[in-house]
Amino acid sequence: MELTAPCYYQKFQCLAGACRHSCCREGWQIVVDEKTMDFYRSLPAPRREAILGCIAQDGEGDWVIQSREGVCPFLTAEGLCQLVISYGDQGLGEICALHPRYREWFPGRMEIGVGLCCEEAARLILSDPAPCEFETWITDSEEEDEEPAPLYPLLVEVREVLFALLQEREQPLRLRLARCLRLALSLQEAVNRGEDPEELAFSRLPGEQRSWQQVLAAILRVHQEMEHLNPEWTAVLEDLDSHLEELDWTGFERALGQRSYEYEHLAVYLIFRYFLKAVYDKKPLEKVWQTVVMVLMMATLAARRWGEKNDLTLLDQIEVVRLYSSETEYSDENMQLLAEALLFEPELSAAGLLGLLEGSD
Ligand code: SF4
Repeated sequence: MELTAPCYYQKFQCLAGACRHSCCREGWQIVVDEKTMDFYRSLPAPRREAILGCIAQDGEGDWVIQSREGVCPFLTAEGLCQLVISYGDQGLGEICALHPRYREWFPGRMEIGVGLCCEEAARLILSDPAPCEFETWITDSEEEDEEPAPLYPLLVEVREVLFALLQEREQPLRLRLARCLRLALSLQEAVNRGEDPEELAFSRLPGEQRSWQQVLAAILRVHQEMEHLNPEWTAVLEDLDSHLEELDWTGFERALGQRSYEYEHLAVYLIFRYFLKAVYDKKPLEKVWQTVVMVLMMATLAARRWGEKNDLTLLDQIEVVRLYSSETEYSDENMQLLAEALLFEPELSAAGLLGLLEGSD
């Protein structure tokens, strides 16, 4: 099977006890697969009872680890996993063994990456000034026995163009995002008509005038309406709400300087992770549109952080995107809410975003 991953993927190594924001403290619902449950059931007492006592069946019949105040009961004081210490890799369920890696299967191939919610993954995604590249290699794992979806080759082709547009560094990033949105608008029209065009033109949809204030307030509002997993996130959003009008964007951009590539990397990460999912739901525009909104939100959070400290180190940036990702990307409900907001929130219309991104102020 063919496997494609961003160039930083193979460098990933979990920080384990050295991690400042361990994923074992996120309060996520961790489902244990049946194979691992069988392993726990096969252990001798009293260890078996101790482990099974921390796992309960939810309403859908899944076995879920019962966190204590958001902390995994198997996390040791040193920040290590007691199950791994005791039983090696066999003690770890599939979800924990995979995290923060994500995988997406397509006919004959798989894509894999590491998620932004993990601080080490965020460091890898953000820290290389060079444009992100991708590696493909062949593994001996089983090939998925599926027919290629008709839309798949077109989406793969357009995604290559999106990567190239996002990495056109002679253009300001906001114009690159606008070009991606225009391309996605044309693509969506072609998909809706059931066409497979040889060449896609950029949509000529007229941009509608919007102020940064209007759009950023709407983006913030959407995030405030989402389910919040961590009280720290609620506090961050409340603080942003009370300082949104006074953000010094010129100062922030100047302070960021050459590091604007960090936002390019974030956009490339989101397109790589989500765009090809349109093969299943036929909504490529939504994937690009949400990328624009998510990048704007992360930039706004970072601008506030810079305003508070008059500095934005790589560690600050990692902290901003890590928290953002764990609160949005890692909740299906929140991603759904974001997708709906794109359709129903007038300030976030594609025409409004184009007007904003292509405007001169
Ligand atoms: S957040 Fe990342 S680095 Fe930290 S413990 Fe989890 S996987 Fe490891």
